[in-house]
Amino acid sequence: TKGAAMVTAVASRVQAQRKQIDKVLALFQLTREQLVGVQDKMRTELENGLKRKTHPMATVKMLPTYVRGMPDGTEKGKFLALDLGGTNFRVLLVKIRSGRRSVRMYNKIFAIPLEIMQGTGEELFDHIVQCIADFLDYMGLKGAQLPLGFTFSFPCRQASIDKGTLIGWTKGFKATDCEGEDVVDMLREAIKRRNEFDLDIVAVVNDTVGTMMTCGYEDPNCEIGLIAGTGSNMCYMEEMRNIELVEGDEGKMCINTEWGGFGDNGCIDDIRTQYDKEVDEGSLNPGKQRYEKMTSGMYLGEIVRQILIDLTKHGLLFRGQISERLRTRGIFETKFLSQIESDRLALLQVRRILQQLGLDSTCEDSIVVKEVCGAVSRRAAQLCGAGLAAIVEKRREDQGLEHLRITVGVDGTLYKLHPHFSRILQETVKELAPKCDVTFILSEDGSGKGAALITAVAKRLQ
Ligand code: BGC
Ligand code: MG
Repeated sequence: TKGAAMVTAVASRVQAQRKQIDKVLALFQLTREQLVGVQDKMRTELENGLKRKTHPMATVKMLPTYVRGMPDGTEKGKFLALDLGGTNFRVLLVKIRSGRRSVRMYNKIFAIPLEIMQGTGEELFDHIVQCIADFLDYMGLKGAQLPLGFTFSFPCRQASIDKGTLIGWTKGFKATDCEGEDVVDMLREAIKRRNEFDLDIVAVVNDTVGTMMTCGYEDPNCEIGLIAGTGSNMCYMEEMRNIELVEGDEGKMCINTEWGGFGDNGCIDDIRTQYDKEVDEGSLNPGKQRYEKMTSGMYLGEIVRQILIDLTKHGLLFRGQISERLRTRGIFETKFLSQIESDRLALLQVRRILQQLGLDSTCEDSIVVKEVCGAVSRRAAQLCGAGLAAIVEKRREDQGLEHLRITVGVDGTLYKLHPHFSRILQETVKELAPKCDVTFILSEDGSGKGAALITAVAKRLQ
């Protein structure tokens, strides 16, 4: 009976531990009411960003992009494009042929060392121009004077298509002396400093806008661009009459919502957990981009890591030992989360991935880690879906339609690599915006192709 008592003791301890783990996971399970709440609040914040009176204080900035229409197929020519702010920094050559709507691209990925991402603005832009020089060399285009489209995936206030004042860095960037400056000017000055070639910078474009444009090139119903990657953001075509910041009532203009800032006024604090707060506090921009920090690739792994640390502290994981590795920021990249959550993966393989990450796990540990990852990414997809539901419902109501059909062009590593994110996102939109028929299409390199298309349109209109 002594043995039996011990078995019971162990069993009840396991049960108690399970309860504690479930309690943590439950913090990430949002009810339908909570999701509807997020959708409603997003709607309010979108409207606040558009209205002149509420705009200055708005957390969802709703930035006019001066992109007023989709490419019509007559665009053509050779363009350079820069893509800064996603997982990779790239320089591209894009050749667009009119009529057949065919686009050819050549690109090269360059690393941006951390010292440069977080150094001075001059160093950052000098580095960018160095990469352009390498690329032109590599392509045998030295001395060519090509029009350039700059995909710059950070919030910029624009007064025209070729001007963009950086409002604030997001994600992993924090170069000095850039905020409040025009990024096109900074690029031009760096080109001048190098004094080796001349480029005609025609457009500065957010990645969401490039993505929408690329998909719009094939599907005229595409009026939304979504990025679920390192960062999170959405743009859409809005009626000019609703955009109080820009003169004129005719037609539409693309609005870069910068919805990553949603919640920065505390309006979703009721669903933020202690882990979200820890991630925010440990980030480069505390207090900012709260919604982005709950929904995008750069932060999901960090939320997971905070939960694992907490569970370990309570003796619920890794035999209660917090390893140096687990203390290391950024270890759970999107690709690891995606692997861990893959359904085809046996637990043994999950353990192997954790091993690769330097985390020694038991079989029980690996089950818990997988559950934690699942809870965090599921909430991210649902939150993102609630945001999207807000915009499609707005578009439907604004057009006075009983039913709206609309296409969303999507890009981003989280959407593309994660085994469940895209499905849960789509299910959530369907659930929360039942009168909208939303089609999702993957953009093939929206940041590159889109920037070139926008540049081509701008060039045509110049
Ligand atoms: C930026 C957006 C960008 C998004 C996706 C966010 O951090 O603020 O401008 O579109 O990331 O790259
Ligand atoms: Mg990108």
